[in-house]
Amino acid sequence: MIFQMRPPAPKEADLTIVYDAIVVGSGAAGGMAAHVLTSHGLNVLLLEAGRKLDMESELKSMEWPYDHPRRGEMPRDGHAITLNEYTVRQPPYAKDTPYKHVYSYVQGWGGSDYSKNIVVDEKDHPYTGTKYAWVRARLLGGKTAIWGRLALRLSDYDFKGKTHDGYGEDWPISYADVQPYYDKVDLYLGIAGHKENLPHLPDSLFQRTTRLNPSEVMLRQSLKKMNRVLTPYRAGVTTDGLKHNKYRSKCYGRGACNRRAGGCDIHAAFDSPTGLIYPAMDTGHLTLRTNSTAYEVTVDPATGKARGVAFADSQSGKHYEARGKAVVVAASTLESARLLLLSKSNAHPNGIGNSSGHVGHNFCEHVMGPSILGRVKDLVGKPRTLDDGRPGGFYIPRYRNLEDRQPKFIRGYGFEGGGGTGMIPGRAFSTPGFGADFKKTVRDEAGAFVHMGGFGEVLPRYESSVSIDPAVKDRWGIPVLKFNYAFGDNEKQMALDMAVTGKEMFEAAGIEVLHADADVLTEGWSIHELGTARMGSDPKTSVLNQFQQSHDVKNLFVVDGSSHVSASCQNPTWTIMALAWRSCDHLADELGKGNL
Ligand SMILES: Cc1cc2nc3c(=O)[nH]c(=O)nc-3n(C[C@H](O)[C@H](O)[C@H](O)COP(=O)(O)OP(=O)(O)OC[C@H]3O[C@@H](n4cnc5c(N)ncnc54)[C@H](O)[C@@H]3O)c2cc1C
Ligand code: SF4
Repeated sequence: MIFQMRPPAPKEADLTIVYDAIVVGSGAAGGMAAHVLTSHGLNVLLLEAGRKLDMESELKSMEWPYDHPRRGEMPRDGHAITLNEYTVRQPPYAKDTPYKHVYSYVQGWGGSDYSKNIVVDEKDHPYTGTKYAWVRARLLGGKTAIWGRLALRLSDYDFKGKTHDGYGEDWPISYADVQPYYDKVDLYLGIAGHKENLPHLPDSLFQRTTRLNPSEVMLRQSLKKMNRVLTPYRAGVTTDGLKHNKYRSKCYGRGACNRRAGGCDIHAAFDSPTGLIYPAMDTGHLTLRTNSTAYEVTVDPATGKARGVAFADSQSGKHYEARGKAVVVAASTLESARLLLLSKSNAHPNGIGNSSGHVGHNFCEHVMGPSILGRVKDLVGKPRTLDDGRPGGFYIPRYRNLEDRQPKFIRGYGFEGGGGTGMIPGRAFSTPGFGADFKKTVRDEAGAFVHMGGFGEVLPRYESSVSIDPAVKDRWGIPVLKFNYAFGDNEKQMALDMAVTGKEMFEAAGIEVLHADADVLTEGWSIHELGTARMGSDPKTSVLNQFQQSHDVKNLFVVDGSSHVSASCQNPTWTIMALAWRSCDHLADELGKGNL
């Protein structure tokens, strides 16, 4: 039986008291901070800029296309920025547009009506500078409301990248430091996957894996001969259920995950509210204030330490300050950098925690673009199977620059993909013809397609940066970010290799290649922005120590992807949460000892 627990009733925020900790942002990072700090018995205030949405009625994961007036599409007064616009125009992309609402490119995917209240309206949230496809979600839970759920670990190939190839900086931690926290995240939130024993993609503590379908098994077997691996999608989804969490159901394989952008209305897929925040509220130690847009980390002039957080009520526009013994910034990589840079004071004239001048710099992410679509001839005309009743298809982990050395680029890339029959048959819209023949072709070929696309590591560079643009403000009068960022030669060479090896793998498996794309997509497309407040041992070249604690301000922590020293090519969210858990344990410990 599918059973939905109502969220706990929120407590009123009391701005007359000093909280043990104030957390800014309620996505993967902020949710984890709230969970861990409250589990230590700390009195925590969580400030979230967005509102709380009723996700079940928002996502309607089981609604059929024909039960929706526009087959799931958003109203016509909304516009999703296209690849062409990102390429030929400079931000702010919503400037001078005839549309009432403008959204990032993800609203161009099918099912955009279900995410129109989740992603931000670019009219309210402009940014400037170089081209960048910035996808943001301002609501309780942030981007975890619609994330793709691929949940991967990093390895020492990532944490010790410099040792391996000489580029950039090593992280101040190694896999052994994070591994116990990855384990905790796996057990607390649930993850589906299959063990492969790979040194460069460590296994998680998996629940029941999702199954590969025939075309994917065929590709897996062929890749084995090339010493490459295709593994079932490692999904941040509970397939066996979680006895300790009454807000989440196990995955019923309903296929709705194939509606993009994602979201799961029974919360089998992890989202921060049901996975972390509601259980934290149940401890009685968490106060949640939504509609609270933080614009400054305030400072005690006598000590230079963080005093609290100044915020505007996102609806009324009224300004407030909340006070805390510690401040935990978790507003997502770029918003956290923005908040630190906005927080200027006599003690911190370049922005709080920025004596190194590195806040906003060393920005990195994943490069995307090369992708491939193929047809498995043996599957044409075969009976259709339920293949999209699962939270994802497959992942091909990195195989470049492990034991080998590529002549034209360093680091690596992986592929995400899938095959088989879907709710909307693959290529139905691009199959030529009409009438009975057309329908037969679509039906016959429905389960025969396989596709995949690459995600490659973007190198961090000091000059890859964001800064405050004082001339442009958002709807709340807060200065916005200006981008100074572009892919370099390493990313372009890597993308060329992705296109070549993607095709090579399909051909080796006997999959007929129907379409192969080699072009690189606009910067930002991966939605995996990282860096901008990196960890390190040297306060002159890094912002945070190994516990995501500011070198300059000991009661300030920044626990999201901004702390990452390099991007690796694995999706970041599971690592964001493992690190946040580790750092918040440390925070609680230090607070208890009176060290903050
Ligand atoms: C469509 C999509 C697919 C994705 N697929 C994957 C995937 O398969 N695997 C993976 O690992 N990752 C994926 N991601 C990325 C993943 O969602 C992020 O890595 C993760 O959510 C980051 O967590 P976060 O807490 O840093 O940021 P967010 O989840 O963005 O949360 C930040 C929160 O802070 C709030 N906030 C921002 N500014 C302020 C402010 N000034 N004051 C108060 N609150 C503020 C925001 O409203 C938001 O709620 C995907 C993302 C999207 C959108
Ligand atoms: S397949 Fe599983 S995780 Fe995905 S929407 Fe359905 S129940 Fe949720």
